[in-house]
Amino acid sequence: MAIQLNDPGLLKTQAYIDGNWTDGFEGKTFAVTNPANGEHLADVADLGAAETRQAIEAASRAMKEWRALSAASRSAVLEKWHALLLENQEDLAILMTAEQGKPMFESRGEVAYGASYLKWFAEEGKRVYGDIIPTPQTDRRGIAIKQPVGVVAAITPWNFPNAMITRKVAPALAVGCAIVLKPAAETPLSALALAELAERAGLPAGLFSVVTGSDAPAIGGEMTSNPTVKKVTFTGSTPVGKLLMRQCADTVKRTSMELGGNAPVIIFDDADLDQAVAGALVSKYRNSGQTCICANRLIVQEGIYDAFVEKLRAAVAEFSIGDGFAADTTHGPLITEKAVRDVHAKVSSAVEEGAKVVIGGEPQAGAGNFYQPTILTDVNPQMRVFREEIFGPVAPVFKFSTEEEAIAMANDTEFGLAAYFYTENMGRMWRVAEGVDYGMVGVNETAISSEVIPFGGVKESGQGREGSKYGLDDYLETKYICMGGLNR
Ligand code: NAP
Repeated sequence: MAIQLNDPGLLKTQAYIDGNWTDGFEGKTFAVTNPANGEHLADVADLGAAETRQAIEAASRAMKEWRALSAASRSAVLEKWHALLLENQEDLAILMTAEQGKPMFESRGEVAYGASYLKWFAEEGKRVYGDIIPTPQTDRRGIAIKQPVGVVAAITPWNFPNAMITRKVAPALAVGCAIVLKPAAETPLSALALAELAERAGLPAGLFSVVTGSDAPAIGGEMTSNPTVKKVTFTGSTPVGKLLMRQCADTVKRTSMELGGNAPVIIFDDADLDQAVAGALVSKYRNSGQTCICANRLIVQEGIYDAFVEKLRAAVAEFSIGDGFAADTTHGPLITEKAVRDVHAKVSSAVEEGAKVVIGGEPQAGAGNFYQPTILTDVNPQMRVFREEIFGPVAPVFKFSTEEEAIAMANDTEFGLAAYFYTENMGRMWRVAEGVDYGMVGVNETAISSEVIPFGGVKESGQGREGSKYGLDDYLETKYICMGGLNR
């Protein structure tokens, strides 16, 4: 076996439905490979619509008792699950680096980040308050209570194979819902290890099922059409999110959508240059540019432009690209060969239209899905690298002259997930923060995410918020109760 764990029991290849590990009805499998070298890692159970239905029915049954428990009882299970994630941080990180490719230090960080949502919602789940509403009639009072939305279906991507799951599962379970998950086909091992730890934490059967499979439309089709599912929560690309929303319309399901981004990082002449370069570097190249909130467009004011590009180039030249298990690797591979081709097509099209390659610009020769960390100048807003999510280690650096122009460039996109800017001017901080159409804004900071903040986008980047006190809302319904006859 290619993956060596301290606890081999965390390497699961069967799906997890209604508290049982299963090969599915047909016993089919699909292969999971290491993107750094193409090595075959595991064959995982390949399930479809029928098993998804089974998981949904089990969720509906399991939820009846779970929602009736006290929030403190549900919280105790989530706390234990959280502790188990941290106890097994190294093994979970090994699984993640093997199937996703990110360097071990990033994988360890993601496991801690993913675990933090379990802890946070274990606490927040105890604080689901309602309201007592004075009515126009003196003999009545209105009451608004919050109740679990019902059975939830979740679909998650490969770029954060742990945290994108816990962000959804933790609030759903904390308020009394049950949840059925389809993880990305590239990274099912991290999801299955989470299920194993949930079982060890004592989570009752059926509350969290993991349906692994290579036929996403079949699994997603069942999730979005089954009337027992009341809510679909999705993290992934905007086109798939739109498709799922359309599919959910027939049964009027609630939806939460964490979709694609096209984040600008605006750097004003008055910025602290070193701080801005450091922030842009982390935001652009973390996870080799495969994060939804990563810098897609560096937008730099003309007075600081050349100095910024030179400092960025010098820092990128120090990167060590390679296998995430190697101690000196700073940046890992892209997820698939297709991802490498897609990124290169965007770079090539920019170059054909006049862009200049400052560094990188090619797929890395040799085995694995590597793309050279790249910087492009002489770019313009008509290019694909301005309009589309790049999802790779490519930094196009655009030039602007005025604040108004920078805000207009930042907003010139259908996306609205995260935006960042660097300035030392207090008035500008407010003007730009309020002027950009994004769900999240980093002022002199690009590492903005944690479990305590409301993560989410506007425009075609989605709807709903994950994390923070607001993260519970997506899993709650408001019920109005009219208490009448109070003058008797
Ligand atoms: P994707 O292609 O949309 O896939 C995401 C998930 O959807 C995977 O589990 C995939 O399954 C599934 N899927 C694909 N087609 C489906 C269908 N027809 N019906 C049901 N499910 C379907 O996105 P990705 O390439 O994995 O992830 C990258 C995208 O996610 C980027 O756009 C990124 O910005 C976005 N993202 C957003 C956030 C956020 O919080 N806003 C966070 C992370 C990532 P398979 O793997 O089996 O195809």
